[in-house]
Amino acid sequence: MSRLAPHRSAPDFRPVLDRIAAEIDATPERGRPADYIPLLAEADPRRFGMAVAEPDGTVYGVGDWRRPFSAQSITKVFTLALVLSMDGERLWRRVGREPSGNPFNSLVQLEYENGVPRNPFINAGALVVTDRLQELTGDAVGRLREFMRAESGNAGLDFDPKVAASETAHGDRNAALAHFMASYGNITTPIPQLLDAYFRQCSIEASCADLALAAGFLARHGTRADGSALLSRSQAKQVNAVMLTCGTYDAAGDFAYRVGLPGKSGVGGGIIAVVPGHCTLCVWSPGLDRRGNSVAGVTALDRFTTLTGLSVF
Ligand code: GLU
Repeated sequence: MSRLAPHRSAPDFRPVLDRIAAEIDATPERGRPADYIPLLAEADPRRFGMAVAEPDGTVYGVGDWRRPFSAQSITKVFTLALVLSMDGERLWRRVGREPSGNPFNSLVQLEYENGVPRNPFINAGALVVTDRLQELTGDAVGRLREFMRAESGNAGLDFDPKVAASETAHGDRNAALAHFMASYGNITTPIPQLLDAYFRQCSIEASCADLALAAGFLARHGTRADGSALLSRSQAKQVNAVMLTCGTYDAAGDFAYRVGLPGKSGVGGGIIAVVPGHCTLCVWSPGLDRRGNSVAGVTALDRFTTLTGLSVF
């Protein structure tokens, strides 16, 4: 374990991270990597990394905490924050903020609800957010990459074209969602262009350290790493609230029960979590449960909040 910057103030997270890593190492059940994106299926489910970033940018980590992995749906938090920072409340006319109770790539609810997705973290909702970011900037994924590079301090953070291509080749369901919403007028970017942006967005390779740092604005009540405001305090609270209620697929209730923090998972096996005012976390282990959340990742966050007493409750 090591840290990126000199540590100035308590608490020191190193002992707790060491203990969690030892416990995870002794746990045989790791789940299975996502296999619907063939390149992700090759990941080793025994890998495990965890990082904690404090609001001043101090980062602690254990295991594979500096190893890049496929961020996937974790990027949906950053596109949402960017759109809210530019467009405010208007986004909520096009996407809801209720848990869906359905799998992340489900088509069923969209028809009942006239092409308005339940929340920004299911795939349909994320496609609407990326569409809006594209409308606002003309380069949704360029803006996302620039933001994540600036916040993480990692100028090399980038898309993985192989993962994006792997997903494009198996992207029929996301294409169906996008076309279906376009039929209701809820998508304006040409669908091939939107899907290309969305798959590149999901393919971003980042480490636990990168993602814990990039999410830091959510612990700093909307303030970016350079001290400028991305979101108002109220908007940062709103993003954290949507993460708590909708951030971990249709297991958000169980995640809130076990972990007690706003979180967002991705099928690459990463999960970010926020303790507002205190720190951000990112954990990675590619073996998933049947809902799509990292088995070791949820366990590690559960242990973190239990051992430290830090949670939003
Ligand atoms: N790129 C993945 C998809 O659209 C993201 C899924 C996820 O991480 O939840 O299916």
